[in-house]
Amino acid sequence: MPKNKKVRVRFAPSPTGFLHVGSLRTALYNFLFARQKGGDFILRIEDTDRTRLVDGATECLLKILTTAGLDWDEGPMSNGKEKGKFGPYIQSERTKIYKKYAEKLIEKGQAYHCFCSAERLEKLRETQQANKLPTMYDGLCRSLDKSVIAKSLKENQPHVIRLTVPKEGNTNFNDVVRGAVAFENKLIDDQVLVKSDGFPTYHLANVVDDHLMEITDVIRGEEWLSSTPKHILLYQAFGWTPPRFAHIPLLLNPDKSKLSKRQGDVAAEDYLKKGYLPEALINFVALLGWNPGTEQEIFSLPELIKYFDITKVQKAGAVFNVEKLNWMNGEYIKKMAVDELVKKCLPYLKDANYDLDKIGKEKLEKIVRLEQERMKKLTDLPLAVEFFFKEPQYDAKILVWKKSDQETICNRLKILIKFYDTFMGDWSEQGIEQATLELIEKENLANGPTLWPMRVALSGREASPGPFAIAGILGKGETIKRLKIALNLLCGK
Ligand code: GLU
Repeated sequence: MPKNKKVRVRFAPSPTGFLHVGSLRTALYNFLFARQKGGDFILRIEDTDRTRLVDGATECLLKILTTAGLDWDEGPMSNGKEKGKFGPYIQSERTKIYKKYAEKLIEKGQAYHCFCSAERLEKLRETQQANKLPTMYDGLCRSLDKSVIAKSLKENQPHVIRLTVPKEGNTNFNDVVRGAVAFENKLIDDQVLVKSDGFPTYHLANVVDDHLMEITDVIRGEEWLSSTPKHILLYQAFGWTPPRFAHIPLLLNPDKSKLSKRQGDVAAEDYLKKGYLPEALINFVALLGWNPGTEQEIFSLPELIKYFDITKVQKAGAVFNVEKLNWMNGEYIKKMAVDELVKKCLPYLKDANYDLDKIGKEKLEKIVRLEQERMKKLTDLPLAVEFFFKEPQYDAKILVWKKSDQETICNRLKILIKFYDTFMGDWSEQGIEQATLELIEKENLANGPTLWPMRVALSGREASPGPFAIAGILGKGETIKRLKIALNLLCGK
């Protein structure tokens, strides 16, 4: 174990498409750990599996980390350059390094060339499966004669390089999250280190880089736990000290199955696109597998740096509960300054083709403020405020308040129209409210049968902000127009 060394951790994604929310959490935990220990947070792109590469995935990844506030000390940057003195940080630019280290292992007798054909390996697997044996390489090429190897290499025969895994004993390690972990060596395959295309496998590249980049702590998803004994054997084969390991729990669907695309979104970018705020998403994923042991649930990034504790991360899978994310996002929205919220909502309102110039900045702020309390995500806004931009379409029946009847409602609508037509006072929420409540009192109209149809006439909805706030924003002319439409719809007049 590395002691008294400056903490260096890395986030090492493969650019195979989108950034999984689980990977966002891995990045976050690494970031928090580095920041609280005064260490370095390194970003390394693991792109040696050439068949799974997706164009633009790395750029997208950098963008999300930046948006989320997870700035890294070393690694590729969005301008195409790199920072840090342990580069290159993109594995496909390091292939020569891996080759050199694979050869070192061969020289040391810790790895060997394997010339077995795909057909032979397939047959081997079938036989093992038929005999209910673990499917793994049988070690045929371990003991090839030096001259045979030299000849085959000279003839450019396709081959891989495999690690010579001891057949006896156990590989043990102490995981920060999972405690003591042991794997039987006889169940560990002679791992391929260099593929036939000359590219290293994840295992070789990962271990070589973690060593060369002086990584002290590997914090990664539990799905990599079974790879760790292979990595430890590699460290031993090289004669290197392994880092500390912390495997963080899987993310689960509410039904406890592994979080999958089938049951909802798993891409961090989809959540951002859907109008979740980056700080809320970060807060939410921080609590997937860790909690502070107090009631506090809302944490800023600096607070997370202060309170996060890798040793308190749970072993059990963490349920990804979208309801909780919605609640949390709502809490962040409520706390935002309204002008900032407007700014964030603008793209969504523009997408909905609302005439924002016509409504103007002041009214737009009022509209957003009206929804701020109940909004769960930014994408909720366009639909919620549609009636400010378009005449609402609704079923006339909903104009009738539940404790009233059609005739009374028609009467109240008529009174309101007449009253507003001649109203000369201040057409603001407060002005309208005061005047209307006085009218209701004076004429004994009762609030329910008067204000319910007014609100529905203006919004077209059974649930909406209050009628005076809406009327204030719509303006006098539009308010009267909508009341008349309602009257016509319900009473045919
Ligand atoms: N490239 C691996 C991934 O995509 C990294 C795993 C690790 O952190 O070792 O998650």
